[in-house]
Amino acid sequence: MNRLSRTRLETYLHCQRRFQLRHVLQLPWPSPPEAMQQTRWQQQGELFHQFVAQYYLGAPAALLDPSIIPPEVQQWWQTFLRQPPAAPSGSRPLVETTVTLPLEGWQIIGRFDLLLVSTEAVQIFDWKTGRVRERAQLAADWQTRLYMALIWGGFHALGVERLPAESLEMTYWYARDPQKSVTLRFDREWQEKNLAEIRRLAAQISRQMEENQAIWPLTDHLETCARCSYRNYCGRSEAAQLVAAPPPDRDEERSEPHLEEAWDEELLMEPRE
Ligand code: SF4
Repeated sequence: MNRLSRTRLETYLHCQRRFQLRHVLQLPWPSPPEAMQQTRWQQQGELFHQFVAQYYLGAPAALLDPSIIPPEVQQWWQTFLRQPPAAPSGSRPLVETTVTLPLEGWQIIGRFDLLLVSTEAVQIFDWKTGRVRERAQLAADWQTRLYMALIWGGFHALGVERLPAESLEMTYWYARDPQKSVTLRFDREWQEKNLAEIRRLAAQISRQMEENQAIWPLTDHLETCARCSYRNYCGRSEAAQLVAAPPPDRDEERSEPHLEEAWDEELLMEPRE
């Protein structure tokens, strides 16, 4: 286990003990995780991603006939076709691309829906079929942070020279309402701080592994335990039952690591929203 993805990092930040049980000790799930059941909206999100990927790979329009797919996906797809994000001339599209960055003994890893790369800019696109989220939420999201760090720390992996911070941007493109899509840019100071924080976390996890601590710290938040399959290992079953886990909506479910780990194991085949 030397890959550190967004979901693994979030797992660690939610509960270090869960990270230890799942990724260090590699204990099997005590019970079948609910995450193994891919929900209808995840399947729809995946389908939409496949259509958009084919579009950027230049598949003939005839192969993208959406007549046999669910109406909701058809609607997102037609919306996309009406107003796809503008690609600057001369940019090179990289579709469903995995980027890794060696850091503190780890391979930091992320899979990008679309990268548009030129000698002057790198644009990250992430397709969203869930509800629109606020700019501030997105800026603080670990997906944003990790993806930015992967590019900021690894321009060479894309075959381009290091670019100014302002030339790197990430767009969350909303299929339900493209007008509300959010593009984020950060200055150099933010990028350096962000990369340093990820480096610090990676080093901290490495240290904990080397120290071989028997039990890593348990989360203080019983709400987290209420939806965790490892409750029995932690003696949290009864306590967790007293706390009502909030019902997930699409975005909350998307950001709950325990719902993503099953996909994470499949080399970052994370559910699509
Ligand atoms: S039950 Fe709670 S403390 Fe134990 S691993 Fe799960 S989230 Fe962490």
